[in-house]
Amino acid sequence: MQTGTDVVYAADLLRKGKLVVFPTETVYGLGANAFDAYAVARVFSVKKRPTFDPLIVHISAFEQIEQLFQSPIDEQVYTLAKAFWPGPLTIVHNKKPEVPDLVTSGLPTVAVRMPSHPVAAELIRLAGVPVAAPSANLFGCLSPTQANHVEKQLNEPDYLLDGGQTIFGIESTVVSVEPGGVRILRHGAISQESLEVHVTILTEKEVEKSGQLPSPGMLKSHYSPRKPLYIIKESNFGKINEESGVIINSSYTMKNFNGIKTISLSENGNLCEMAVNLFAALHVMEDDPEIKQIFIEPVSETGIGKAIMDRLRKAAYNYDTEGKP
Ligand code: AMP
Ligand code: MG
Repeated sequence: MQTGTDVVYAADLLRKGKLVVFPTETVYGLGANAFDAYAVARVFSVKKRPTFDPLIVHISAFEQIEQLFQSPIDEQVYTLAKAFWPGPLTIVHNKKPEVPDLVTSGLPTVAVRMPSHPVAAELIRLAGVPVAAPSANLFGCLSPTQANHVEKQLNEPDYLLDGGQTIFGIESTVVSVEPGGVRILRHGAISQESLEVHVTILTEKEVEKSGQLPSPGMLKSHYSPRKPLYIIKESNFGKINEESGVIINSSYTMKNFNGIKTISLSENGNLCEMAVNLFAALHVMEDDPEIKQIFIEPVSETGIGKAIMDRLRKAAYNYDTEGKP
């Protein structure tokens, strides 16, 4: 795969139906022209992503909202767009018939986001088309927050735009706009607390009553490293040994681990800093041949901490059997 920093060239490739990996403020994305069903099909194939898992469409201008969402467009869409775009919020709403079914996995809705990363914004603007892009990793594996994380997993895309380390380090928050409120489908870089300032958040009970379908692609196991991962708790603390890598944050009281390698996500327990460093730390542990298992400290579930714990539970799901049905 060719790597570089030529945004004009990358935009030209997108227009021609090619696949371009690009940095966003959340994680790296694997992009294709959203209106080119053939290019979109290649995205699923390169990522080995099941076609029931729909893609997020990325735009660079507010006028593109009407290219993707079917009118009448709910006012809450504009309220959220005004408050959080450009930025790491994905809005799901009724789609126009022109949006290929492959992008939305046959759903009547489409997920749309306007990234704030300057390279992503410029790329989409120059391409002149909305860009469908999932994270640039293999399905189910660790998300990429640096160009080298992408190179570890993919080599089929036509170009990799290297923009250094991403800004938030964790995926976008996904919300579905429904009559009377907004449902959080995935916790992410925008916290529930900040959404609540602008819109009503529907509780699961209200959603059940309305009979809305849950979001596809929300699996119990996701974002996983290729070796066992455990969230540290009292009952498994004793299992940390010389073959373990340990990821901590400063709030942990006991720091006398036996592990061979320790990475701290944030020296002063800052949740945003932890999110930024989370996937990179997991990649380092995954790549170290001496490490056979990874232990990670939980974080408090406030603000972006909710999104971090969501990622950790999914990443550890196949190994952390305790308390599972
Ligand atoms: P990713 O591209 O890997 O960040 O994942 C995007 C996620 O957004 C998917 O896995 C879905 O769960 C969610 N999503 C995308 N489009 C829709 C949609 N039309 N309705 C509900 N959820 C969606
Ligand atoms: Mg993903």
